[in-house]
Amino acid sequence: MRWEELTSDEFAKAVIDCKRTCVFPIGVLERHGPHLPLGTDIINAHYIATEAAKREPAIVFPYWFLGKIFTARCFAGTIAIEPKLLLEITLEILDEIGRNGFRKIIIYNGHGGNRDILSYVLRSQLYKKKSYSLYMLFYDDGLTEEERKKLAELWDAPWGEHAHESETSLTMAHRPDLVKMDALKGKVAQPTGRLDHLKPGQTSWDFYANFPDHYAGDARKASPVKGKVFLEMMINSLARFIRTVKEDTAVEQIAEEFFGREQELRGNSNDR
Ligand SMILES: [Zn+2]
Repeated sequence: MRWEELTSDEFAKAVIDCKRTCVFPIGVLERHGPHLPLGTDIINAHYIATEAAKREPAIVFPYWFLGKIFTARCFAGTIAIEPKLLLEITLEILDEIGRNGFRKIIIYNGHGGNRDILSYVLRSQLYKKKSYSLYMLFYDDGLTEEERKKLAELWDAPWGEHAHESETSLTMAHRPDLVKMDALKGKVAQPTGRLDHLKPGQTSWDFYANFPDHYAGDARKASPVKGKVFLEMMINSLARFIRTVKEDTAVEQIAEEFFGREQELRGNSNDR
């Protein structure tokens, strides 16, 4: 169920029917080479979440495109807000979801660059007791070994990171109207290696320096047929995770234990 399509009364009932579970797909607005739309990550993540929630009922949060994407600020169409505000707004929106009666929020991330900030958000749950538990699944992390093997045989390009064969195929599978293969003009994007002399050290510019067209890999072999295979696996893997999360009682118990001990500590320190 899509949050924004429900009436307020339907929503209140759906929260209960979904066992108070919300899926929160996150993407960004960023350049995806010359051929894919700015919203590729959220368009794909939201679609996967919506389809997965049909297989295992959950309420899916509307398009959320505020993520960590400073590295694309020099390209038209990017939205990348101030770093501290981004963290605050991410924490705030999760609290707002929780305030609507959800006890379990599943962050489903469609953008690789969000990994670090979302891991930080996930761990910051230990700072203060909340009314909800956070769970997270990154893009294709939920695929089984068997699915991974099948995928490895499917792809023709040996490597890719961004706007590449798999991401292009995935978009073609459900939004072919948004993929402009003509604009690609047969281009392949290998890393330029401009900062390789500093490896294994890191700089702020590593991704941009390697991929100045914000395209990393080879999208030429992308196809809707490959995309459909990948898409089906992604939808199933998220549906499996939603089911596991709904059945889970361990996270809440551990949080109770943790905050109980923390409370005890406060009590003990007050005694002194
Ligand atoms: Zn992407």
